[in-house]
Amino acid sequence: MCGIVGYIGKQEAYPIIIKGLQRLEYRGYDSAGVAILDGDLKMFKKKGKVSDLEASVKGLNTSGNVGIGHTRWATHGPPNDVNAHPHYSHNQRLAIIHNGIIENYSTLKSALENLGHTFISDTDTEVLVHVIEEFQKRDGLKLEEAVRKALKRVIGAYAIVVVDKEDPNKLVAARKASPLVIGLGKDEFFIASDATPIIEYTNRVIYLQDEEIAIIHHNSLEIINIENEVQDPEIHELEMKLEALEKGGYDSFMLKEIYQQPDTIADGMRGRINVEEGWIKLGGINEFQERIKKAKRLIIVACGTSWHAGLIGEYLVEDLARLPVEVEYASEFRYRNPVINEDDVVIALSQSGETADTLAALELAKDKGALIYGIVNVVGSSIARLTHAGSYIHAGPEIGVASTKAFTGQLTLLTLLAMRIAQLRDSVDKEFLGKLMKELVNIPDKIRQVLELNEKVRYIASEIQDSPNAIYLGRGYNFPVALEGALKLKEISYIHAEGYPAAEMKHGPIALIDEKMPVVVLANNTNNYDKVVSNIQEVKARKGIVIAIVNEGDTEIKKIADYTIEIPATMDELAPFLSVIPLQLLSYHIAIMRGCNVDQPRNLAKSVTVE
Ligand code: GLU
Repeated sequence: MCGIVGYIGKQEAYPIIIKGLQRLEYRGYDSAGVAILDGDLKMFKKKGKVSDLEASVKGLNTSGNVGIGHTRWATHGPPNDVNAHPHYSHNQRLAIIHNGIIENYSTLKSALENLGHTFISDTDTEVLVHVIEEFQKRDGLKLEEAVRKALKRVIGAYAIVVVDKEDPNKLVAARKASPLVIGLGKDEFFIASDATPIIEYTNRVIYLQDEEIAIIHHNSLEIINIENEVQDPEIHELEMKLEALEKGGYDSFMLKEIYQQPDTIADGMRGRINVEEGWIKLGGINEFQERIKKAKRLIIVACGTSWHAGLIGEYLVEDLARLPVEVEYASEFRYRNPVINEDDVVIALSQSGETADTLAALELAKDKGALIYGIVNVVGSSIARLTHAGSYIHAGPEIGVASTKAFTGQLTLLTLLAMRIAQLRDSVDKEFLGKLMKELVNIPDKIRQVLELNEKVRYIASEIQDSPNAIYLGRGYNFPVALEGALKLKEISYIHAEGYPAAEMKHGPIALIDEKMPVVVLANNTNNYDKVVSNIQEVKARKGIVIAIVNEGDTEIKKIADYTIEIPATMDELAPFLSVIPLQLLSYHIAIMRGCNVDQPRNLAKSVTVE
């Protein structure tokens, strides 16, 4: 959450920071601000998007070679010009940008007020910069020392960058539980909350670790930890390509990412499955195969869309590998004293690999001795570094806030994992497994065929765009897809939607159905087909508007549904890969028709790094 950019070097800092903020805007976009050091400390802040900030700064003097910038996702205090970052210290000598939450900010604030400090914003961040100022003033410390001392007083999560007017050729950055990446240029450094603003300047980066502090001059970088011990950072090479961060001719990142799915799924499988030779290789688990084979239970922890992918993972692993699985909301799991044993395997699903609750759940499981495994998209992310083993989904940067390609990427890895565990445990018929492997490899082509139905989906969207509510129903492998379809619609079009197991409808939601209620029914899985047909009849008997996703050539549902979307048939285990695509497109078109910003839906942000 929130975008952080810093620059120090020979170039003008402002344009680099603005461009970086635009690249990071998917992480938070309620307000933005920049501070530039140029003899003086200049500050520009504005509620709204980075473009609003740019417009308000037009014509002003922004020159300087050192600067910091921020796009905010508000936690403490509403989005407005004053709460926007950067924040000044009381004496206006320091400026800070911050991602995260200072949990003990009110205790710190009271102590500072007793010392005569006054505050102009509602943020926890402003308190932190005043604490740094206090150490600097009281003990006459250098900026990095004052930052280090202040951070020792802080409870919470932070990624910060601080500048000092009296020490103008320096950036001081630090992190705990919120990511920060430092890009190494020639006589210049870039700092950002993820690598996307850095990649056009350099591919050499250092991922700052928890409780590390970086002291950056244009020609030197030193990293210490919070105990003041000098660190020896590892330099990584980024593999990300700049084109991956552009819309590439599409109107939005979300649409681009929906259309990328045949390729991203193929990338997720590359080198990991060979149908002819019958092998599945997940590099991450090699070393732990015995432990996974003998595991008594698998626990999947995740949030949001990843949690839905986790539910499908549960069906797959129990079905194929005959291993009990529990799927947990990470935020509940970590705070409810769960039973975790050493023979459990805990799998974390997270696009960003930074999701705060998922990270904390994993730490808990690791402490209790479980094997922890990560399925993430962002290379080098915190979850990737914490886990014993893991697999990247290789979907490339996902910029649209509503997850699409990361979901199908997670499904790809979960399917491979379930099949691999089934092989290890010898729990499934080889011929069947061979068939499933072959079909999985065909999925990208079948998704291409589903994407050709875009116009039909757009037409259906135009018919239901004004509905204030919607219900999504599915059974078996398609139940989690119903949840995901409803979430997509809520997220980007602000229509209230609920997903249910189709049979559960009778136990409550059926009361909502009338002639105005769209009911999206997923019926492309063959198991329980007849039961789904009955559920559709029940909806129609109450005059609901049925939109059914069915297999090509279906005749029965076509007779009763108001709209049908016919997609290629596949095996039930893989049905979600195909049924989710029309749901992504449906929510996309409805949101566009309602004038919503699909890439930056209100109140949301990508990469949820706060609890
Ligand atoms: N807690 C800080 C605030 O509310 C930082 C939020 C962020 O990460 O954008 O301003």
